[in-house]
Amino acid sequence: MSTDVEEPGEDRRKYEFRKVIEELQEYEGSGTQLVTIYIPEDRQIADVVAHVTQEHSEAANIKSKQTRTNVQDALTSIKDRLRYYDTYPPDNGMVIFSGAVDSGGGRTEMVTRTLESPPEPVQSFRYHCDSDFLTGPLEEMLMDKGLFGLIVLDRREANVGWLKGKRVEPVKSASSLVPGKQRKGGQSAQRFARLRLEAIDNFYQEVAEMANELFVPERHDLDGILVGGPSPTKDEFLDGDYLHHEIQDKVLGKFDVAYTDESGLHDLVDAADEALADQEVVKDKHQMEEFFENLNTGEEATYGFEQTRRNLIMGSVDRLLISEDLRSDVVVYECPNGHEEYEVVDSRHSTPDHECSECGEPAEVQEREDVIEHLMAIAEQRGTETKFISTDFEKGEQLLDAFGGVAGILRYSTGI
Ligand SMILES: [Zn+2]
Repeated sequence: MSTDVEEPGEDRRKYEFRKVIEELQEYEGSGTQLVTIYIPEDRQIADVVAHVTQEHSEAANIKSKQTRTNVQDALTSIKDRLRYYDTYPPDNGMVIFSGAVDSGGGRTEMVTRTLESPPEPVQSFRYHCDSDFLTGPLEEMLMDKGLFGLIVLDRREANVGWLKGKRVEPVKSASSLVPGKQRKGGQSAQRFARLRLEAIDNFYQEVAEMANELFVPERHDLDGILVGGPSPTKDEFLDGDYLHHEIQDKVLGKFDVAYTDESGLHDLVDAADEALADQEVVKDKHQMEEFFENLNTGEEATYGFEQTRRNLIMGSVDRLLISEDLRSDVVVYECPNGHEEYEVVDSRHSTPDHECSECGEPAEVQEREDVIEHLMAIAEQRGTETKFISTDFEKGEQLLDAFGGVAGILRYSTGI
């Protein structure tokens, strides 16, 4: 679905989740000792506690003493966390990670993280104990979800449905009365051919109606339409302009698919894999093209931390563009004369000394904060939308390398 309908603050939440996930992905346990629990919102906390208690007693059978102790410690820590909740977990459920992770030099460190109310509901209860944390289901929730219309057809059968994110939803099907290629004895070849063509045409119309009914009302949220089937059916269908013109314009491509039943819808998504991957980047590309256009032809663009921040505070930024791969902190300094200055540093580096550029006095560190969180907090207050831009295309890379990972499309020119 288009990101325009997201609630304010959702992007920020997603970013916060993404950061925790990245941290968790780096951890490794020396044995099968890192525990992850996915808890749906309708699962009673008491049930979860009972499950954890059971796992704790079963862990007594683990042969390696070190692993046994680590698993049991992780489970105890999870039980401690669960005490903060009453009957049920928060909306959309939650995920708890706990375990002794390698901290180098043969030592371990206990890590426990709770992620409440993920962007989508936790589907089912999962207990997972492995040498790494199970972050996959959460990562999937954070991915950009698209909405695509699916059509598969041959001359005998058709299915239409949705692709929502990664989920294929079959909706309607139709089958035709198109006669086979063999005519019956006594029928003239010409008449048979004409009747057959008529039947095919009728069937294509029926399929188009079915697709139009489903897709036209959603045309503004649709990211595209995929059409699949054997040749030449799908080509005839598309070339014949059977579909509503607004739907026809959304066709991303046609793909060879052998089956036209419900399983054909899944085959279609597989066959269109590359086109779909490109599609995700397309939205980001449009944002960056608009930014460059504004930059070249007018003044309604801003970039770099300082400039963008000032524009954000003025409320002149329409969309804040942030590189997905930006990992920087902003350090706030204040000198003895009260001058406040900012410096952006790589998140992995330590805080540098700073001299006030106005009076030359050594300045003291007031605060160090993630650049993205810092800017998004201002953006939220000012009603500015934030868009994360991937680095999988040239202009996306440029945003990170040439513009400090931060830019903005302005509502009006500010001259900053
Ligand atoms: Zn100063």
